[in-house]
Amino acid sequence: MPQTAIDYNQLAELALAGDELNDAQARAVLDTPDADLLPLLHAAYRVRRRTWGNRVQLHVLTNAKSGLCPEDCHYCSQSSVSTAPIEKYRLMTRDGLLDEARRAHDSKAFRYCIVISGRGPTDAEVGEISEAVRAIKSEFDMEICCSVGLLNGDQARRFAEAGVDRVNHNLNTSERHYEKICTTHTYADRIETLRHCREAGLSLCSGAIFGQGEETEDILQLARDFRRLGTESIPINFLIPIPGTPFAEGAADLNPRRCLKMLCLVRFLNPDREIRVAGGREVHLRSLQPLALYPANSIFVRGYLTEPGQEAPDAWGMIRDLGFEIESVSAEAPEVPGHADHGAAQPSGATVKV
Ligand code: SF4
Repeated sequence: MPQTAIDYNQLAELALAGDELNDAQARAVLDTPDADLLPLLHAAYRVRRRTWGNRVQLHVLTNAKSGLCPEDCHYCSQSSVSTAPIEKYRLMTRDGLLDEARRAHDSKAFRYCIVISGRGPTDAEVGEISEAVRAIKSEFDMEICCSVGLLNGDQARRFAEAGVDRVNHNLNTSERHYEKICTTHTYADRIETLRHCREAGLSLCSGAIFGQGEETEDILQLARDFRRLGTESIPINFLIPIPGTPFAEGAADLNPRRCLKMLCLVRFLNPDREIRVAGGREVHLRSLQPLALYPANSIFVRGYLTEPGQEAPDAWGMIRDLGFEIESVSAEAPEVPGHADHGAAQPSGATVKV
């Protein structure tokens, strides 16, 4: 059957009007012929540009506690079922977290993300991280995100009181596919943590890992769940098949064009959200990495927990070559025309020259 031509600009108009793409339109984005990749990217860029202009946020992760996790997330090198030869250590000291924050600041990071392995933090770890966050916030003009596993309501409130801006807790895949990637906790557990964080007044970051054997239906459901939850930030990871993990042979269906189509879909369905090309950017987008910044407005630099990534100066060069600008935290937030849709995310910050 000949494929019906898609008017990608019409999809952009729908997204900009706050309307949700229907299933046929969403599937058409993922099924875009490679020959139409540039019109698709142009339409997604129109949507990105209204809220984010040409600004790019840089995020830096620190793996503040590594390995020793009892959970069995099949993609993760730190899980109980992984034999990957990673470094294992307990929670970094306050001074260690401050040193890492300084390095993130030197990398022009908009946001510094403190990540710990494990099902969730102990109350003592919440206290130690909170103390470090207070010290970091008093020294650096940088937002702080914590990615610390499952949280109860009290723990979420303590992080909010310490000045944590945002909590990351990825949904990773659709509800129906979840038990294929992890059996020690559920999608519902993750939703509950996001609810506790929302009730504590924290901004939410929750994203995906594509390439874990999911079907098109799972990708659509997950992208719609982010819209329904109104998560301010959506990191899109592409599975890094780490030797020693159950998914060491995964991600066979990913290629640079497919990854770009996925990012465009997430942008159309979440028009004003912060969308980050996250783990696996270098592995799966390869020479097409700059094109990802047409639908997305944020990247990580300096690696992903146990895996290396692009160094900051190379990322600065990529952004400069695109004619885009790095966004930095500043008291003076620029006017953002047409920011509407579903609520809480407020782009803030000024740009810095690269
Ligand atoms: S993703 Fe987090 S909870 Fe899952 S195995 Fe890795 S460290 Fe543990």
